[in-house]
Amino acid sequence: MITGATQVCGVIGDPIRHSLSPVIHNAAFAAMGFDWVSLAFTVPAADAEIAVAGLRAMDIRGVSVTLPHKALVVPALDQMAPSAHALGVANCISNNAGVLTGHNTDGVGFINSLEADFDSPIAGRRFVIAGAGGAARSIVHALGAAGAKDIAIANRTPGRAHDVAVLGGKAARVLDGDALVGALTAADVVVNTTSVGMGDDAAMPFDPSPMGPSQVLVDIIYDPAETPLMAAASAQGVRTANGVSMLVHQAAEQLRIWTGHTPDLKAMMTAAADALAGG
Ligand code: NAP
Repeated sequence: MITGATQVCGVIGDPIRHSLSPVIHNAAFAAMGFDWVSLAFTVPAADAEIAVAGLRAMDIRGVSVTLPHKALVVPALDQMAPSAHALGVANCISNNAGVLTGHNTDGVGFINSLEADFDSPIAGRRFVIAGAGGAARSIVHALGAAGAKDIAIANRTPGRAHDVAVLGGKAARVLDGDALVGALTAADVVVNTTSVGMGDDAAMPFDPSPMGPSQVLVDIIYDPAETPLMAAASAQGVRTANGVSMLVHQAAEQLRIWTGHTPDLKAMMTAAADALAGG
């Protein structure tokens, strides 16, 4: 039951009504017996800074931040945690007694999902990253910090790939078209961070035929549950995962930041899968 003592958190963005964050957060609160609630707030881009000031005024304990607000909220924050500082954007804000801190939990969410789902350590491993947008930036930064041996980045627009490679440190490099096949063959883990294959899109961002059963493919798209790229890789024996686990693990990190407690991942995963299945 929501009472006067219930703590409030949520998600801000525009559009926001499709967001899975409240579903995932509230499933965790229910499983943990926490008197918290998570809500979706539609915030026009022009009002991003006013909305952030409102978190302090109304003692809202934290929010997830989606596009286009991840960069827009930064000037209104008091401080940035290291990953958000490195990336220059925040996908999460915590309000600790009026001190507003920006965080970025996508990278750690990706790494935690990979370790949980495939028992796959990061240090010493070879990665191929397709794409160079916001998600790729978080993932490449996190992989570099976690000691990946090789982070090979391929993107339709090469200039953006070069910008992303800077975030990955000395393990990161940019692939030109001809080098992709060799990198796909040698990689331990291949990650699609492009939006190719989302929804009804039947296209693949690259041909996964050089890959085989000793390799992992993660497509961070979560709708559909199996993208055309995942289906093609799976047919060759590649172990695959979609983006639901990353989504849940990055949300879990946000709840850890806000509440100081480790949330119930299983309840969150079930809620996300049910919501995506339309249940
Ligand atoms: P973004 O910043 O807009 O980047 C999009 C990327 O896709 C760019 O690299 C872009 O290449 C590439 N791309 C788009 N259309 C393409 C096409 N037709 N052919 C080749 N490349 C194309 O988006 P984002 O925020 O990084 O998100 C990317 C995907 O990740 C989305 O599907 C999103 O839903 C998903 N995502 C999942 C999670 C999760 O938790 N599972 C978290 C964040 C994002 P150019 O640079 O050449 O334009």
